[in-house]
Amino acid sequence: MTNIILLGPPGAGKGTQARKLVEERGMVQLSTGDMLREARTSGTEMGKKVAAVMDAGQLVTDEIVIGLIEEKLSTVKAPGFIFDGFPRTLGQADALGDLLAKHGSTLDAVIEMRVDDAALVARITGRFTCGDCGEVYHDVTKPTKVPGVCDVCGSTNLKRRADDNEDSLRTRLMEYYKKTSPLVGYYYHAKKLHVVDGLAEIEAVAAEIAKVLDNPAT
Ligand code: ADP
Ligand code: ADP
Ligand code: ZN
Repeated sequence: MTNIILLGPPGAGKGTQARKLVEERGMVQLSTGDMLREARTSGTEMGKKVAAVMDAGQLVTDEIVIGLIEEKLSTVKAPGFIFDGFPRTLGQADALGDLLAKHGSTLDAVIEMRVDDAALVARITGRFTCGDCGEVYHDVTKPTKVPGVCDVCGSTNLKRRADDNEDSLRTRLMEYYKKTSPLVGYYYHAKKLHVVDGLAEIEAVAAEIAKVLDNPAT
């Protein structure tokens, strides 16, 4: 059982790499961003409550996202979890440690995907995803083979996120540096931190992550 965190600012490539690990290793991706977007579309009370906060690019409360993760950990069985976009605060990081311990499990590696801010604007403003299978694309770096059609499932339901604009990205980056980047030091001291170059090509990043997974203790 290998549990990992993918850590990095919006657009670092966490979702892209998580999907590859799901496909190649049968791990389960737990993306709090995806869970929150699902709650919004299904119109739950919680979804309504967080909509404005998400559109503004701010973090929703620890209580809400910890609750979402807690529910998954108690109901989903997996050969390993990929935490994607969680934890994002020190409070969430402490809670994750407690939850894993409660389930007799551990955190094996934290992979920091290092990128620079200049690259992120292009990453975020070019991002679109398949609304049916969740595949992540980019206008320039990862276009669909046939314009308007998902390579994986053939759907034409391709979507852009409301918060993927420069304004919201600026807020999301500030939130990242203020509240999430302290996790780098936190996990460094826990001897779990591994850094990969998130600016490399998708396959090269995947190869770096595979190295960590095949030998998490180094
Ligand atoms: P990105 O892929 O750009 O990193 P996500 O899809 O992970 O963004 O998250 C989208 C939004 O959902 C965030 O801007 C924030 O409002 C909310 N969110 C997601 N995960 C968390 C979390 N762990 N804690 C607080 N807010 C979160
Ligand atoms: P995150 O989940 O960290 O917010 P995503 O995986 O959604 O990031 O990637 C953001 C955008 O950048 C997407 O459009 C994706 O296709 C593209 N992308 C991801 N990784 C790379 C990479 N290594 N090189 C170039 N583009 C990438
Ligand atoms: Zn698809």
